[in-house]
Amino acid sequence: MDMGIAGRKALVCGASAGLGLACAQALAAEGVELVIVARTEAPLREAAAALTANARAPVHWVAADVATEVGRARIFAAHPSFDIVITNAGGPPPGDFRQWERETWIAALDANMLAPIAIIRQLVDGMMERGFGRIVNITSSAVKAPVDGLGLSTGARCGLTGFVAGLARSTVARGVTINNILPGTFDTARLAGNFAAQAKREGKDVQAVREARIAKHPARRLGRPEEFGAACAFLCSAHAGYINGQSLLLDGGSFNSVF
Ligand code: NAP
Repeated sequence: MDMGIAGRKALVCGASAGLGLACAQALAAEGVELVIVARTEAPLREAAAALTANARAPVHWVAADVATEVGRARIFAAHPSFDIVITNAGGPPPGDFRQWERETWIAALDANMLAPIAIIRQLVDGMMERGFGRIVNITSSAVKAPVDGLGLSTGARCGLTGFVAGLARSTVARGVTINNILPGTFDTARLAGNFAAQAKREGKDVQAVREARIAKHPARRLGRPEEFGAACAFLCSAHAGYINGQSLLLDGGSFNSVF
């Protein structure tokens, strides 16, 4: 299926690895021009080179921390406008809320709520003027199914989800959709880090922790990043103009509910 977005320009944040990179790969396959962003230059440069090898349109990279104003300014100085934006950054650390000071909360809010809002604020009016825009926020299944110890993530991302739910209703008539994708357990470095932390906490072997998680999952496997990228590319496609203000849970059915 042709997604109808060849020649569009996309900003993909957090895109040197994991889910962001998978979104960049899927958009590159559709002929979308890319600007990929991450903080660490070497892997970002490598990701851009690998994407370029298979891309039909230019691939640019900007090493920047999207959680900071300086980082975002660096991106928009080089590339002022986009048709598609995927907001994404690393998730906040797990822990006990009794240990979290105001600064801990502010860091989580900066990365996972205020940064995507600032990026949307910068780009959305231009998208509406041009009559086309696709904004996809990578959040977490923890927005829907809270996990003990992940309160920083759930709190910040629920704030973002609530904000964009309202905004999306005011942009869609001008061709701009805003949606969130909520990953469950996708096989990325971040998830491997979570398994390692859990293994340490519980005095278990990492492989045993991973296998136990898979055994409890209805799909009996982890999600593949390319499955995430494909869903993201569809939400960014010309066909998805009537999908708006939604939070799409991609968890292989792990969240147990009728609706
Ligand atoms: P990942 O494999 O660790 O990749 C994260 C990517 O984002 C890297 O390219 C990283 O590069 C970049 N990044 C992190 N912080 C950044 C920042 N402040 N500014 C710019 N780039 C940044 O993580 P992932 O598994 O793809 O997860 C992506 C998001 O989904 C995270 O917020 C995570 O919490 C959430 N999530 C993931 C899962 C899962 O199963 N994988 C489940 C639920 C939620 P640098 O470190 O070089 O910046």
